[in-house]
Amino acid sequence: MRDTAGGLAKGRRALFGRRGGIKTILLEKVLPGGAPLNTGRIENYPGFPDGISGRELMDRFAAHAKAFGLPVREFAEVLGVTQEGESFTVTVNDETLTARGVIVASGTEPVRMGIPGESEFVGRGISYCATCDGMFFRDLDVAVIGGGDSAIEEALSLANIVRKVYVVHRRDALRAQKILQDRAFRNPKMEFLWNRRPVEIAGGQQVERLVIEDTKTGGREDLAVSGVFVYVGYRADTGFLGDLVERDPAGFIITDEELATATPGLYAAGDIRKKMLRQVSTAVGDGATAAVGLERYILGARQ
Ligand code: NAP
Repeated sequence: MRDTAGGLAKGRRALFGRRGGIKTILLEKVLPGGAPLNTGRIENYPGFPDGISGRELMDRFAAHAKAFGLPVREFAEVLGVTQEGESFTVTVNDETLTARGVIVASGTEPVRMGIPGESEFVGRGISYCATCDGMFFRDLDVAVIGGGDSAIEEALSLANIVRKVYVVHRRDALRAQKILQDRAFRNPKMEFLWNRRPVEIAGGQQVERLVIEDTKTGGREDLAVSGVFVYVGYRADTGFLGDLVERDPAGFIITDEELATATPGLYAAGDIRKKMLRQVSTAVGDGATAAVGLERYILGARQ
């Protein structure tokens, strides 16, 4: 049997598997697309000089994969993967699949700040997705937490909708790409609150204020905002793989240059992998490499 089961967020690895003549299925926890579905505009994927919405790009990826006859199973949550001999058992919802190889591309999920009020106000002013929730804050004041690419990209997109965006960052320099920084510093709707960390979110039915602390003086102040958008990083959830993979201290899967893990036949691609750059373009490259790596393994070409 030459089967491949993959939890494939961006469809590309399954597409390659399918083109290689290997029986492949794409298992998706919710709907195909992953993190880019929550990105308003992607400007650094080649071929789209004017940018493209994350949703449209992902729809195109899915359509491309389906055009090659790839079976996609939606709302199929992988609960466990085990290996016996050369065969993997993948537990999906309440059934099991067997496969010669698996590519894990299950992406990452947003890190929470873990401060009082955060969980309580999720959906009532706390959001991890500006693209999904930004329109609820039209002409209101919001805060964005973080100084990375996600925070600045999403703060810029929020600035098109809201009255004012406070960017609250724990240092005095951003980590985001320079092109995003330049755009943000020029935006009159954005105000940067440097060396501040959020300590509490408060309100009644909805968020009304964010309490921030000066990291140098320890002084606290209230920021009157209706929404708080949190972009303090992403974490990998690989619990369903048990001991099958080696992880770095942050939990990302360690692979070799063919994207194989230490378990023969088990590959990882995309943001879930320990890597330097997490972008759609690098995820696509990972997909191609992992699919061809796994194909070589299944056909016996890899030692
Ligand atoms: P990130 O790069 O890890 O940045 C997280 C930000 O949150 C950092 O500025 C960090 O501060 C801050 N932070 C972390 N923990 C915090 C806490 N407890 N309280 C307050 N602030 C905290 O995460 P990301 O921006 O989501 O990006 C994740 C990956 O996706 C990166 O590799 C990024 O390049 C990539 N990405 C790329 C694009 C693109 O290419 N257009 C878009 C989005 C994301 P410090 O700076 O002090 O550490």
